[in-house]
Amino acid sequence: CGIVGYIGTQGAIEILVSGLEKLEYRGYDSAGVATIVEGEIHSVRAKGKLYNLRTKLEKETNISQIGIGHTRWATHGKPEEYNAHPHRDNKGRFAVVQNGIVENYQELKQELISKGHEFISDTDTEVIPHLIAEYYNPESNDPFMDAVNKAVTRLDGAFAIGVLCADFPDELIVARQSAPLTIGFGQGEFFCASDVTALVHHTNTVLSLDNGEIARLTPLGVEIYDFTGKRLRKNPRTLDWSP
Ligand code: GLU
Repeated sequence: CGIVGYIGTQGAIEILVSGLEKLEYRGYDSAGVATIVEGEIHSVRAKGKLYNLRTKLEKETNISQIGIGHTRWATHGKPEEYNAHPHRDNKGRFAVVQNGIVENYQELKQELISKGHEFISDTDTEVIPHLIAEYYNPESNDPFMDAVNKAVTRLDGAFAIGVLCADFPDELIVARQSAPLTIGFGQGEFFCASDVTALVHHTNTVLSLDNGEIARLTPLGVEIYDFTGKRLRKNPRTLDWSP
């Protein structure tokens, strides 16, 4: 129901969970976060309140400075931990959070199963990391972006997604098709969230993605493209709003 993302110089976990708390009013039944630790995706999920997720996270030390988070309002698949986001591909290289619905997930799931992919949740969302993995070609010029870009053009429905790739610990990719997604600009750090309420404690410089846009966030800046891969020039705006 709500997504958040962070890349920068601070520990990601606290920023993600406190961002999710700001999105609680949207309603949710489970929650989860993924970070990159020593070149691997590390994900923690919990059914129920964010308190349950926090309790799990308190048991570990995680100093990752990149991550994505999600509060889920189940549309496809029961509200159980195995259906909670982030979802991953079979190699665990990609982690995806989604706000929205992939309407054609059944067709895509069948196609992916016939190519050898194995699914472990009942969600529509799980097709996304699998599709990205299917399109991922490490030889391509820009492998992570190319794969996400190809995957989103296969998805029907209204959604906003955040994606991590274990091979690219300095990149967070987000995309939007008819579900809200706003990027927050800090000093050497960037945020994203379904709603500005999760950003205003960190920055008042924001940019809302439009439908059919995909963005790459790195510690150095933000690049925005349309789904055909054309680079777009967009300027952030300053919010006249303090938390
Ligand atoms: N359709 C997705 C699911 O059921 C995402 C729902 C949401 O936006 O929380 O997992």
